[in-house]
Amino acid sequence: MSEASEQRAVFWYPPSYDIRVETAPIPRIQEPDDAIVKITLAGLCGSDLHTYRGHGEDTKPFICGHEFIGQVIALGSSFETDAAGRPSLYSTLRVGDKVVSPFTVSCGECHFCRVGFTCRCVESRLFGTEMTPGGQAQYVRVPRAGGTLYSLSSPDFWGKPKPSPGRSSGVSYTDIADSSLLLLCDILPTGVFAAFQALHHPKVLPMVLTLPYPSSSLFGVTGEVAGVITTPLRPEDAVLTLAIVGLGPVGLCACVSLVDMLAARKVPYRIVAIDLVEARRQKARVMYDTIDRAERGEGEFVVASIEESKGIVEQWTQGVGCNAILEAVGNNSALALAYDLVRPFGHIVSVGVHGEPQMPFTGRQLYNKNVSFDFGRCPVRAMFPLAVDLLVRRQDVFGGVGEPASLIDRIVGFDEAVTSYDLFDKGKVGKVLFDPWK
Ligand SMILES: [Zn+2]
Ligand SMILES: [Zn+2]
Repeated sequence: MSEASEQRAVFWYPPSYDIRVETAPIPRIQEPDDAIVKITLAGLCGSDLHTYRGHGEDTKPFICGHEFIGQVIALGSSFETDAAGRPSLYSTLRVGDKVVSPFTVSCGECHFCRVGFTCRCVESRLFGTEMTPGGQAQYVRVPRAGGTLYSLSSPDFWGKPKPSPGRSSGVSYTDIADSSLLLLCDILPTGVFAAFQALHHPKVLPMVLTLPYPSSSLFGVTGEVAGVITTPLRPEDAVLTLAIVGLGPVGLCACVSLVDMLAARKVPYRIVAIDLVEARRQKARVMYDTIDRAERGEGEFVVASIEESKGIVEQWTQGVGCNAILEAVGNNSALALAYDLVRPFGHIVSVGVHGEPQMPFTGRQLYNKNVSFDFGRCPVRAMFPLAVDLLVRRQDVFGGVGEPASLIDRIVGFDEAVTSYDLFDKGKVGKVLFDPWK
């Protein structure tokens, strides 16, 4: 480990809007399952703004940030022996390995982790809180590191075969920049999760599989039983009409993931991508246009303001509405728009972090439309393989920094942390990464 005992880190101070860059002790191993990671890049995320604005319940200063990539510089004693029966990283992770971390700790061993619902691990802790200091620092302690971290040095990652023919952007894993890999901490898996949840829903599967409900499901009847609806689906029945509400980084990742999944299954689609801010709509447009035409599948993709979106969906569907809505904002006006746009027997996936005490609709409204909801945090650790696969193939949109199609606007040092929080809070800058050594 470094001989220095102090590091620089970005602190949040209560009650709100108070960011300070200060020195702090370099974290040390405290538990056998810990790893200490020297950070190469840390992300500033939309959900950091909830803390910044004082919407949390925190009363003491702490180190911010839940998105980081870096190199392991120390490991607890659990890593020293053959940890049979434990997550494989306890046996394979070494000092010097490059790692990326989900934004929450997950043990990898409890029921929730075993079945893949890692965001609800019984030991879940969010980085960038009083209890678990975050990654906007030069070093971070990762609890339960063998279950939490994702090794980018392991042969399982770097040794994977090339992406499937015809769907490859021709990028080798070793070409991927740290700034791109950092998207794996939160926003890319969360976008993939939103798309995945939407397209797997039993109310959406009839369009994906061109089979009527409930034959479209795992437990559907085979068609030999009397009474099965046999009127063939018309081509227009099988076109998926989808809306993405909110084109921040997560919404943009959801757009790219959705298009990728629909193209892979050759599902015809119409997508309306909605945001209040013209610059965000423009970014979505450029990202979509950047994807190779052959890899976009058969579909239409438009960007729209809130008012425009209602007219577009009305016109596309003769007033019926969207099959599914992906909501990536986290407030009641976004949810109310999602309800307005969804068709009867439709599905709403919400990955935004909501803070308001009441939902903007009644139980009767939900009943009357047969609306299904899906809320909550992405199980990032479980979604990593899907997100890595997309990241590698879509370096055209996920690879760059500061280009028109890039998700990441800029990489700055901690001396610009205070300004960056302020600009990000005011919507004047897109995603910012911190290089703690700059
Ligand atoms: Zn985040
Ligand atoms: Zn767990």
